[in-house]
Amino acid sequence: MVSLIVRTSTDLPPDVRAAMAVARAQEPSGTQSAQALAIIAQNIDLAAADEGAICQDTGMPTFEVKAPVGANQIVMKRQIREAIADATRRGKLRSNSVDSITGENSGDNVGPGTPVVHFEQWEHDDEIEVKLILKGGGCENVNAQYSLPTELPNLGRADRSLEGVRRCILHAVWNAQGKGCAPGAIGVAIGGDRTSGYHAAKEQLFRTLDDVNPDGRLAQLEASIMGEVNRLGVGAMGFGGRVSLIGCKIAALNRLPASFFVSVAYNCWAFRRLGVVLDARTGDIKRWLYRDPAIPSVAMADQAGFARTGREVALRTPLTEAQVRSLKVGDIVLLSGRTYTGRDAVHHHLMSHDPPVDLRGAALYHCGPVVAREGNGWRVTAAGPTTSIREEPYQADVIRRYGVRAVIGKGGMGAKTLAALKDAGAVYLNAIGGAAQFYARTITRVEGVSLMEFGTPEAMWHLEIEDFPAIVTMDAHGHSLHAEVEQESARELTALGA
Ligand code: SF4
Repeated sequence: MVSLIVRTSTDLPPDVRAAMAVARAQEPSGTQSAQALAIIAQNIDLAAADEGAICQDTGMPTFEVKAPVGANQIVMKRQIREAIADATRRGKLRSNSVDSITGENSGDNVGPGTPVVHFEQWEHDDEIEVKLILKGGGCENVNAQYSLPTELPNLGRADRSLEGVRRCILHAVWNAQGKGCAPGAIGVAIGGDRTSGYHAAKEQLFRTLDDVNPDGRLAQLEASIMGEVNRLGVGAMGFGGRVSLIGCKIAALNRLPASFFVSVAYNCWAFRRLGVVLDARTGDIKRWLYRDPAIPSVAMADQAGFARTGREVALRTPLTEAQVRSLKVGDIVLLSGRTYTGRDAVHHHLMSHDPPVDLRGAALYHCGPVVAREGNGWRVTAAGPTTSIREEPYQADVIRRYGVRAVIGKGGMGAKTLAALKDAGAVYLNAIGGAAQFYARTITRVEGVSLMEFGTPEAMWHLEIEDFPAIVTMDAHGHSLHAEVEQESARELTALGA
C-alpha cells in the first residue's frame, strides 16, 4: 500500500501524460497557456525523478478495493490507514485531514472519513485489486450536480434528455474556468441519487482517458463533448487557450422517476490514480494497473527551468506602489525576496489579529506547502499555489489594512479584491496550479514560520524565493484576465447551446 500511495502521488500514469502532451502540442508557443503547460511538463518530470509530490495538495486518498469472499476487510482497512500515515511521515502526502469543527489537523491523514475506502467482493479467490485516486481540494470544489430540468446560464433549459446532460457538462467545465487547474478530466454520472451520483461520477475517473465507453450512446456523448468543449477557450489555468479538457467519461445509473441528477466530478491535470493487483495470500504486488513501473516514464519536458523571452519583469520584495502600478495584465513577473504563505486559517486570523510580521510591500502566497524538518530548520518539498477564490471574503481587507502589494495564487479572485488592488495599489499574480515541485525549487530558504498552531499547510511560512515566475492576471488598473476569459468563454458557451 505504501508503494501504491507513493507512486500515485509522485508519478502520473501514461494515459494522463499522453493527453497532456497532446494538449501541449495544441497551444501555440509563447502563449500564456503554452507557458503554463511547459512548467507543468517540467513539474511532472521533477516529481517522478525525485519521488516528490506532483502537487502539494495530495488530496483525499480514495481507495476502491475488490477482495475475495471471506477476506478480512477490517484488517485491510487498518493496513491502508497505517500505510497512509507512513506515506505522510515520509513527506509523500501532505497532512490533509482536518477536524471539521475545530480545524485541528490530525497530522497523519487519518481521521473520521479519511482515508476513504470502498470495498466490493469479487469472485477471484487469489487476488485483491486496489485502486487509488488522490483528488485535491481545488478541483473537488468545482464538482457540480444538476437536478434536471433546470435553466442554465448562457445555455438555456436543460431537459431530462442526453441533450440536457450535454448542456450540464458544458456548463460545469465553463463554470470551473481555471479554478480546478485546467485542463481537467471529468467523470460524469447520469441518474442515481445525490450520493450515488457523485460516487459513480468519481468512479468514472478510474477509466483510462483513451478507453471507449461500451454503451454506444454514452460513447457518442463523450466523443461529442470532447469534440466541442475546447471551443470554450478556457485553456490551461484559465489563461485562455485551446485545451480546457483532456477527458470526459460518463456512466448512467437508474434513478427514481421523480429525480434526474447529473453529477460531474472534475479532476485537475494532476490526475493521480494508479492501482495494483495483490496476491491475496502474501499481499505481494502481482501487477500494476494503468502502468508498468518497470517501463520508465517518458519525459514530458523539453526545457529545464523557466524559458525566458526577455520580456519578464524582475521584482524583489518589498514592493513599492509605483512598481506594482506599472504592471499590467499579461506581464510575466520573476519575483525574488521574502514571501509569506497564507491561506484560509491565516486570512481568517488576520480579520481580528495583527499580522505576526510586517506585511507592508509584501507578497502573500496562497500556498499550503509540504515542509520537512531538516536539522534545526525546514525544507519545503512541494509548494504550488492553492485556489485563491476561497480568500475572497478576506483579501480586500488584508490588502488595505496591512499594505500587501502582491497576492500570489491560482484561479483568480473576485470583484471585491479587484477593487482593493486598484485602490491600494497591488497586483494578483497567477502561479501555475499543481506545479509544486517546480516552485519548491524557487524557494532558496525557509526563514521561519508563524502561526504553526494552524498546522503545517495553514501556517504562515517565511520563504526566500528567487525568480519565481507568475503571470499578472489582475492588475492595479481594474483589469482581470479571469473576468475577460470568463466573458469570452460565456459567448462560446451560448453558441454551443444554440
Ligand atoms: S493541481 Fe490544482 S486542483 Fe489539482 S490538487 Fe493541485 S492545486 Fe488542487
